Amino acid sequence: MWKDKLCHKNFAYRSYYVNFSSHLLNTWNANLLFPNSPNIWPSQDFSRLLDMVKAFGFTCFEYWLVPDLFEPEALENKGKFRAFASTMQDVTNLAHKKGLQVKYALAPNCIGHDWYFACPGISKDKELILKLWRHWAKLLNQTDIVGIFPGDPGGCNRNGCDHNTFIDLTLELTDITLQENPRAIIDIGTWGTPFSGWGNDMCDVQDWDGSWEGLTNGVKEINVAGCHIWNGTPDRAKVAMSDFIKRLPEFPKNAVVGINLGFSPDADATVGGDAREYVREIARLRRISSWDYSVCEGELVVYPHWRLPRIFSRRREELAAAPYYGTMSYTMSPKLSHLCMYAAGQAAINPDRDPDEVSSEFFGLVFGDEHKQLGELFEAFEVVKGWGYYPRRNWSNQQAHNAYLKIIEHLEAADTTSCKLPLFPSPEQYRKDLLWFARIFSELSGQNPDRDRIEKQYWNKTLEIYDHIPMSADQRAHESAQRFANIFANSSECASWL
Ligand SMILES: [Zn+2]
Repeated sequence: MWKDKLCHKNFAYRSYYVNFSSHLLNTWNANLLFPNSPNIWPSQDFSRLLDMVKAFGFTCFEYWLVPDLFEPEALENKGKFRAFASTMQDVTNLAHKKGLQVKYALAPNCIGHDWYFACPGISKDKELILKLWRHWAKLLNQTDIVGIFPGDPGGCNRNGCDHNTFIDLTLELTDITLQENPRAIIDIGTWGTPFSGWGNDMCDVQDWDGSWEGLTNGVKEINVAGCHIWNGTPDRAKVAMSDFIKRLPEFPKNAVVGINLGFSPDADATVGGDAREYVREIARLRRISSWDYSVCEGELVVYPHWRLPRIFSRRREELAAAPYYGTMSYTMSPKLSHLCMYAAGQAAINPDRDPDEVSSEFFGLVFGDEHKQLGELFEAFEVVKGWGYYPRRNWSNQQAHNAYLKIIEHLEAADTTSCKLPLFPSPEQYRKDLLWFARIFSELSGQNPDRDRIEKQYWNKTLEIYDHIPMSADQRAHESAQRFANIFANSSECASWL
């Protein structure tokens, strides 16, 4: 249980984070933003998800209160805004009945479907941020943990804003949260501008107006090679962290700081440099929680990931650095990404376990001991050169192809009636989805795949929702289908995040 004193039982707090933002919707994700469109999950679906989350070993269900919900119209509490609040109130009650906590995280500066980066230095922007914050804090006042994170997207470095602006704002938002929801634990995120780089500091876009469109168009015009949205440097992190640590005593004693080993979504030290010295210092003052964004799964191409060794090694390295109280693991495909999320739950409980054993254990539990070999074979899915791709081994097309054929054999023979995990959707649906992927991966790794047809097939199976809803400000859905169709097409496939 959360207590007012510092508690450093390793990873006692384990959060399962679903990102259902408008740019990451797909068949295996929840649509809570667009009524009368596909993939809407009623509360009963969340109830089943929560049973699975708990069985995997997590203690908390987490979601992003996405920018689509953080806009002036939300204050009227009608239509989709009201429906969202009502669903999440139900989900929170259900979670509590099941013994789970609930957290929402929010980047206060990012407003609306078009992702406007509001500036706390502009009085009408600041007023809107505070109003919206109070509005949601009041409606969702049963939430256990409220995350305030700098921005991704969001954050501000216009008009002289820097990390101290964010710290001031976070203190103000903490007060508002506690007025509306006195039991809430505040979780302060360290990812993004101004701590580690996001927004127009990636490149200097002249006269940027704070709009996402203006930012991305400006970057295209500058056309700087290697210029991407995460450009934090160790020097920058040092200045920001030094000021943050000085002011940390101003936050509630039971606050949590979300920080990993290097301000990186990959949970390593690739973006803001080595964060271990800050992590240790912060752990002396407040509880710390790690976070992954792309360890279990990245963005863009959805498929059955196999990232188990890295999931376990992240946790071991974190505990070697500092007494971590919590961890957070992300998915954008909660109805598909069962293996990695099961592994993430188990890794937080015992990071010293053998990941290969956990992989086999999972398939034994789901399909029976005679199909435990799937645990080894599924590594063949880890061939998509996207975000968070750090393969343990390289597969030739032929080796991977052979593995897919064996996976198909197992899955065709598997009986799900004795599944020992409360999977959502049903184990049978999960088996069918895995078979779909195995068959199509076998085609992609075979001779002369019809990539145009596969691209359409992937779109229809995975991303069809975008035929019914407005495209997100981040318009990568079509790129996702193209990339999927080009798996095994060549070895120089770009691993860019954008
Ligand atoms: Zn600003």
